[in-house]
Amino acid sequence: MEDGLRRAYLRAMGITPWVPRQEAPFDSALATRGLEPETDPVRGAPSPGSVAATQIPDRLHSPSPAPLEQGTGGDVASMDWDALGSTVAACRACGLCETRTQTVFGVGNRRAELLVIGEAPGADEDREGEPFVGRAGQLLNRMLAAIGLPRQQVYIANILKCRPPGNRDPRPEEVLRCQPYLMRQIALIGPRIILAVGRISAQTLLGTDLPLGRLRGRWLELGPDAIPLRVTYHPAYLLRSPDQKAKAWEDLTAVARGLQRRDTP
Ligand code: URA
Repeated sequence: MEDGLRRAYLRAMGITPWVPRQEAPFDSALATRGLEPETDPVRGAPSPGSVAATQIPDRLHSPSPAPLEQGTGGDVASMDWDALGSTVAACRACGLCETRTQTVFGVGNRRAELLVIGEAPGADEDREGEPFVGRAGQLLNRMLAAIGLPRQQVYIANILKCRPPGNRDPRPEEVLRCQPYLMRQIALIGPRIILAVGRISAQTLLGTDLPLGRLRGRWLELGPDAIPLRVTYHPAYLLRSPDQKAKAWEDLTAVARGLQRRDTP
């Protein structure tokens, strides 16, 4: 990337251009356990049974919607956008329906190459019915713009469609009940790359308790289709810890490079 342009991008994200890139591109603790350095999302993506797959097992390669269908009503896995939207809007599968103002389905380009997945609606999103519209959302918009992606060009969704009261962490039961909706959104969109923002999103999608710092900085895969997945910090965290923005920039440029490769699945 041309240097002037790169500097403009960094400024848009609030990163001073002279910030040194001191982080290794992949987590050294995992590296010492045998993981490969960062791999390309296409050819280098770890295949099932590869080191990465064995280091982060469980649902990394197969998030299973099967046991989650109960209580959500209807065959979510075969719904079209309209049916899915109205099913989510009427959902009473967990207790969050008692405290929400409205459900927050997701927004953006339904044929997006990049799907951004956050945690759950906050107060602003609960009021407006759209994900990432508060301060964190504004930073997310700037992060996406920094890699040349207007918000309208990507699709943005959350692990949960309803706001947990007081912005507490999602409970396992809530995640379980809500997961078929997100899985169906992923299937309908068919993104080339997924960006999981924040610990809750990353851990839920990957079925792991590993801390975010050990999940970011490498290409992972989601589901049986092995959709290339990248993890980065939640913008709300970046607002509190702006010194971490340089690492988020590394994550975003990796996504941008992945999208530029025309042969990415
Ligand atoms: N944080 C999230 O994870 N999602 C939103 O929609 C808003 C804030």
